[in-house]
Amino acid sequence: MMVQNIEEEINQTKNHLASLKNCLKEIQQNCDHQFKGNNNYEKCVKCNKTEALYY
Ligand SMILES: [Zn+2]
Repeated sequence: MMVQNIEEEINQTKNHLASLKNCLKEIQQNCDHQFKGNNNYEKCVKCNKTEALYY
């Protein structure tokens, strides 16, 4: 594999990852959260967003 090809693939993967993260963020922002958790954190059962609980 050529170095250029690898770099190109890395960049494409980064872009893909960024768009996935945006997508997830948008879902989590629009989610009507339903948190369920333990002592350390709560996790939304709908979108998997986690929220740490500090004491
Ligand atoms: Zn949620």
